[in-house]
Amino acid sequence: MDEISEKARQIVGEDFVKYMDAKGIPQKCPACQSDELGIMAGGPTEPLQIFEMKIVHPEADAGTVIELYTIVCANCGHIRSFSVNDVVKWKSQESPSE
Ligand SMILES: [Zn+2]
Repeated sequence: MDEISEKARQIVGEDFVKYMDAKGIPQKCPACQSDELGIMAGGPTEPLQIFEMKIVHPEADAGTVIELYTIVCANCGHIRSFSVNDVVKWKSQESPSE
């Protein structure tokens, strides 16, 4: 497992809340304006679930995937996805010792 993947599995729910604050990501759902937000993790101190999106493109190697963290609107089910790499990069700058 590479370093990013290992760090990605240590990001927990409350880290993502901090990430949203740091990046100015609105709580409000862009589809229905509800602020009932669900972060896809077992809980605030549990690791975030990671989703893989397969890239299908003639120039991409077979099996190339992008890893994503997602938040889902509890009202309408609209899903927003965020690149794991960017969150991990932010976390490393935020707490270099961890
Ligand atoms: Zn919604």
